[in-house]
Amino acid sequence: MNYPYEYDAPVSHALFDRAAAVTPGGVNSPVRAFRAVGGTPRFMVSGTGPYLTDADGREYVDLVCSWGPMILGHSHPDVIAAVQAAVARGTSFGTPGEGEVALAEEIVARIEPVAQVRLVSSGTEATMSAIRLARGYTGRAKVIKFAGCYHGHVDALLAAAGSGLATFALPDTPGVTGAQAGDTVVLPYNDLDAVHEAFRAHPGQIACVITEASPGNMGVVPPEPGFNQGLKDACAENGALYISDEVMTGFRTSKAGWFGIDGVRPDLMTFGKVMGGGFPAAAFGGRPDVMAHLAPAGPVYQAGTLSGNPVATAAGLAQLRLLDDAAYEKVDAVSEQLRTLVSDALTKEGVAHRVQNASSMFSVFFTDRPVKNYEDAKAQESYRFTAFFHSMLAQGVYLPPSSFESWFVSTAHDERAVQRIADALPAAARAAAEATAA
Ligand code: PLP
Repeated sequence: MNYPYEYDAPVSHALFDRAAAVTPGGVNSPVRAFRAVGGTPRFMVSGTGPYLTDADGREYVDLVCSWGPMILGHSHPDVIAAVQAAVARGTSFGTPGEGEVALAEEIVARIEPVAQVRLVSSGTEATMSAIRLARGYTGRAKVIKFAGCYHGHVDALLAAAGSGLATFALPDTPGVTGAQAGDTVVLPYNDLDAVHEAFRAHPGQIACVITEASPGNMGVVPPEPGFNQGLKDACAENGALYISDEVMTGFRTSKAGWFGIDGVRPDLMTFGKVMGGGFPAAAFGGRPDVMAHLAPAGPVYQAGTLSGNPVATAAGLAQLRLLDDAAYEKVDAVSEQLRTLVSDALTKEGVAHRVQNASSMFSVFFTDRPVKNYEDAKAQESYRFTAFFHSMLAQGVYLPPSSFESWFVSTAHDERAVQRIADALPAAARAAAEATAA
């Protein structure tokens, strides 16, 4: 494929070359490298509202929003003010502070099943710690996860391979040993029969089921009605814990995340992204009797030098306090508007597609079949997304550089930003229609 606009970005090119010399693949998180779509990643230098500006001075409407956190748009004045005030007082004390208490109170107030919460620095740390706590609490080793669900780069959870029930997962990456992944059972998403079968195959051995509350890491694939409740019931019947990973959906799909939508009460939950306001802050929490097992209250060890960092908690708290009902109505409405615009443009060019959403999170699959699990997601014509992506990029719209990602909007996506996207869509849809498999 040709990338006709690549040479509009000479500064990004030069920075990527510099980066590649000192950082593996030139990036600090793989998907940023554009490997799924080809071309050179844009190095961003600033963000304001719904826009990002790259090192070459080109402005983009941002539909990635830092992979979810920037739900108020970039550089929201209240968040910036809270951060500046916190920084002026010092950046880290390694002691308890009121900011972390206030953030924990805000989370507990919003998410009814969360009685207690522990703050950490990344979603990965949150899920890793929740799994350890579930194992410590139940005294069991095995974990059920679903193919296509991503829970960060936790060794035991990087096993997405394995073909269904009763199959011990094979690690997905070198560096994860069979022992680390051997207690992970990977099942197809949205398949309750497979879950029941796995509980039968491993009686008394399963510590927990972990699932994305509504998956966004194989593209947006919401749970079918009754799926999450079925997981909860299967866990309750078998003495296992139900862990709902809301790192992506938490404080984004509603005030109370996906729990606010489906009302299924998890035993443990994990959070990240939006709650950090663009800083490294994440959390896990849940039932008080389970959380009581965590050090120093209980025996399950967990710690962090920068956990509850005062600047990160100030940013997160400022952001959460601005996220009222009106904010969620706004992002939901913008998302709906964009979903319609994208779908209309693709239909006009005769491109088979499915637009799926979970509240404001949405993604576009280049297939005419509903996508219910990872296998369905992989069956799409991703080469059409590549053409679509590059056309949008060239026209100043920054999409996630992979067809297996959610698109994110913010309260700052106003009519002008939406119009710029609308203007770019016809050419991008045409590019998708004309694309051919490599
Ligand atoms: N869980 C989910 C559902 C996620 O989407 C992610 C990241 O995208 C993580 C966990 C890991 O979070 P982090 O990248 O902050 O480690």
